[in-house]
Amino acid sequence: MRLRQSFHFFLFGMFVGLSLSGLIFFGYTSSWFSRTDVTPWLAPVVWEGTFDSNLIDSIYKQQNITIATTVFALGKYTRFIKDFLESAEEHYFVGFRVHYYLFTDQPEAVPEVKMGKNHHLTVRSVPSMDRWQDISMGRMEILETLMENELANKADYIFCLDVDTKFYGRWGVETLGRLVGVLHPWFFNYPRYLFTYERRQESQAFIPAGEGDYYYTAAAFGGSLADVHHLTKTCRKQLNIDAANSIEAIWHEESHLNKYFLNKKPSKVLSPEYLWRDINMSVGQVKIIRFSHVAKNNAEVRPNV
Ligand code: UDP
Ligand code: MN
Repeated sequence: MRLRQSFHFFLFGMFVGLSLSGLIFFGYTSSWFSRTDVTPWLAPVVWEGTFDSNLIDSIYKQQNITIATTVFALGKYTRFIKDFLESAEEHYFVGFRVHYYLFTDQPEAVPEVKMGKNHHLTVRSVPSMDRWQDISMGRMEILETLMENELANKADYIFCLDVDTKFYGRWGVETLGRLVGVLHPWFFNYPRYLFTYERRQESQAFIPAGEGDYYYTAAAFGGSLADVHHLTKTCRKQLNIDAANSIEAIWHEESHLNKYFLNKKPSKVLSPEYLWRDINMSVGQVKIIRFSHVAKNNAEVRPNV
């Protein structure tokens, strides 16, 4: 009798234990399966189905806005310019005023691409660099200077995009906001502890375990001129402090961007529809691919490994 009773207790204990761990496991991993349409600070996360493109176009058509768009193509990355610009002309802010600023070390290599109505391209010369990390990080300072010296009265919004990319679907006014971050296509459905934030305290990009909201990509970010100017200025300063301390954050300016967004929450977040990893990869919650990295051989295309 005693034995039977303790056996029942044992079974009951097993039942409670398993149910609890099941609940905890489900709570922990549910973020892997569900799509987030709003952040905990009530910023929208833009996915297909969250906006009416005709309606939102008609609202913004009443304002005479200009969207500056920056892109860098140094060294062998000039090969990506044609597809980037041609696909942008099909899908990117069609019908709105866009001014691309293309920074390159080989202006002569920029192909002729026909611009749509109210779309303009300005090519700017920048010095070549030996390390891809320096090219990538150096963008923050060049963008800061561009916004400070030239864009003040020329643009309302700005997006800063990688060039090893292509547009496949609409990228329009639904993406506009004060400060706009894009969810990194590899981490959008991962739990926080897997985010590749900078974990060394010596770096200005340091984010302690248990902090951080999302992992954002540095391949696309934007917002109002004033807010993005502040972002680039802050990241540039933090990058300089790290350089003076002989430390380079694990994912370069992307680590600093993530630190910035931890303190200054984006007012709008774009889903990975707005930067997918490769058009050929399986998609999960991503029903439409609007903009995607193109497959590239890093060892072949970068100036250093
Ligand atoms: N970039 C460039 N030339 C280079 C390396 C990088 O122009 O040799 C620019 C380019 O705009 C590229 C961006 O820096 O899209 C970021 O680098 P990359 O795309 O290699 O980083 P990833 O997206 O692979 O992390
Ligand atoms: Mn890239």
